[in-house]
Formats: sequence, C-alpha cells, structure tokens
Amino acid sequence: MYRITVIPGDGIGKEVMEAALHVLGGLDLELEFVYAEAGNECFMRCGETIPEETVKLVRRSDATLFGAVTTVPGQKSAIITLRRELDLFANLRPVKSLPGVPCLYPDLDFVIVRENTEDLYVGDEEFTADGAVARRIITRSASRRISRFAFEYAKREGWTRVTAVHKANVLKKTDGVFREEFYRVASKYPGMEAEDYYVDATAMYLITQPQEFQVLVTTNLFGDIVSDEAAGLIGGLGLAPSANIGEKNAIFEPVHGSAPQIAGKNIANPTAMILTTTLMLKHLNKTQEAQKIQKALERTLLKGIMTPDLGGNASTMEMAHAIKKELD
Ligand code: ATP
Ligand code: MG
Repeated sequence: MYRITVIPGDGIGKEVMEAALHVLGGLDLELEFVYAEAGNECFMRCGETIPEETVKLVRRSDATLFGAVTTVPGQKSAIITLRRELDLFANLRPVKSLPGVPCLYPDLDFVIVRENTEDLYVGDEEFTADGAVARRIITRSASRRISRFAFEYAKREGWTRVTAVHKANVLKKTDGVFREEFYRVASKYPGMEAEDYYVDATAMYLITQPQEFQVLVTTNLFGDIVSDEAAGLIGGLGLAPSANIGEKNAIFEPVHGSAPQIAGKNIANPTAMILTTTLMLKHLNKTQEAQKIQKALERTLLKGIMTPDLGGNASTMEMAHAIKKELD
C-alpha cells in the first residue's frame, strides 16, 4: 500500500488532477490518497500558500501528485518551497511525442534532467546604483549529484548517451565546475557515452536535429528554458509531464501552470497530468501499470479524442472517461 499526497492547487490544476485521478481509479492499485492544500486559494482561506501541514504530509508520503498553483507576485511559491524544503534536487522532464497529436516532431523521445536547487534560482539579487546584480551559485556537490542522477537514470532506462548542457566558454568558473564534475562522474560509467554542448548550440539542435538527444543534463535556468523549448517540439504545454526527485521524497507535476485564462471551462488538456501519474507509477516500480495508462492514452488520442489545444473538441473529463474506458 502506497500513500500518495494529492495537491490539486488552483485553476486548471484542480481540473487536470480530477481527470488524472479518474484514470488512476481504473487500475487495480493499492494507493491511499491524502489531500493537501497549497496555492492561492489556500492563501485566501488560511493566509498561507504552503501550510506546514502540507509540507509534513508530503514528507511522510511515498509520492506526491501536484496539479498547479497560481503564484501571486509577492507570495511565497508553494512548489519552490517544497522543492527546497525536501531537497528535491532533480527535475526530470521526459520529451516524448504522442501518436495522433499534431506536432513538429512526431517521433521524439528524450529526457531533460534539470538541476533544481541552485544556479540563479537561489534568488540572491540586489539593486545597485545603476541596476541590479544576481549571484549564480554552482557547487561541485550539486553538479556531481545531478550528473550521477542523470547517468543512473540513463542506465536504468536503457539510454546509451548523456549530454551535459552549459555555457562554460563564457561562464568559465560556474559552468567550468559543472562540466568538470559531469566528466568526473561520467568516468565512473564506462559503458555510457558522455558529451557536452553549449546551451546556445543545444537550443539550435533542439530545432534542427532533436532526434539525436537521449539524456540531457543541465543547470537550473538553462534546464528551465530548454525544457519549454522541448515541450514546444512535441505539441505544447498540455502534454509535458515532470518529476521533482530527492533522496527521500518525490513530487510529480505537469510542466504547465494553473492557466487561469482557461480555468473553469473544462477544456484543459489532462494529458500532461496523466503522463505525470505514469512517472509516479514508474518511480513506485509500477512499470506495467504506467505502461497501461500510456497505451490507453495513446489509443484515445489516435481516435481523435483530444482537447481544443490539440485541435479536438473533447472536454477535460470526456478525455479522462475515454482513457479510463481504454484501460479495460
Ligand atoms: P501560471 O501563472 O500558473 O503559470 P499561466 O497562465 O502562465 O499560469 P501556464 O499553465 O503556464 O499558465 O500556460 C500558459 C498557457 O498555455 C495557458 O494560458 C494555456 O493557454 C496554455 N496551457 C497550459 N497548460 C494547458 C493545458 N493543460 N491545456 C490546455 N492549454 C494549456
Ligand atoms: Mg506559466
């Protein structure tokens, strides 16, 4: 029996979570769901975007499903707080095209591993007389840890090459450290090919020859940017899942946000959240169940049952019902 914390959040987060849980309900799985609050609606009710109770529940669970939250400027970000408090150092973003979905590259399959704890995201900025400065933190330990994660993941999933992405020609010290530690870790994986690209070249290759990539590993900000670019290759934000993984805990969330503009209309694409649940199932060693959901989703899309963002006319829950039916 696994205990799963469920944080639906705000906006379409709640809608795609309902859809994903409906699909999960079609599997014969021993999962106990515990609901927890976070985000802006939570703030309106209790004055906090991320109550201590929620952090505790996440800490105590085997995995957490996170919908999406609206972060109002000036408020504490719920997901960034969780990533930090639980030291979820690896952000895993698979990029895999789906059959029947209109996109730039119909046969893509690669993974981006993004360092989740440092770089410019430490948020150490200050104003100066003529503007502002920010500190970029890159440590040897975090660079080693994320590189090791990437190689271990590659080994487990049957990939043969890991590519480090950086800008060490300009950021000689920070990205110099990152690249050095990457190759130090790589030397412990003789069976695995290791290479490195500049982030600007990577941005171009993602458009011109993304089929060449297998596992990319990079620092926080570059990872943020290239993974949105990659999501664009396979058909957009409604399709991109992600996982935040630490030594003890893991939180699974779609790449997209709470999209207030389309919330409440039952048109949000539940695919990213549903794929997110498959990442969770794999993490819990429920690989067969993850495959079942993946196949049911693919059959549904091939029938043309999809939400308006993909050119279809199904609602969020119509898609969820169709996928659940395909599970049987
Ligand atoms: P937030 O501030 O929470 O990030 P946002 O408005 O930036 O909210 P995003 O989720 O980042 O919302 O998405 C930006 C746009 O992409 C949305 O307005 C919407 O048009 C589209 N989008 C994102 N996710 C989905 C989805 N699951 N289904 C359909 N469209 C989506
Ligand atoms: Mg957004």
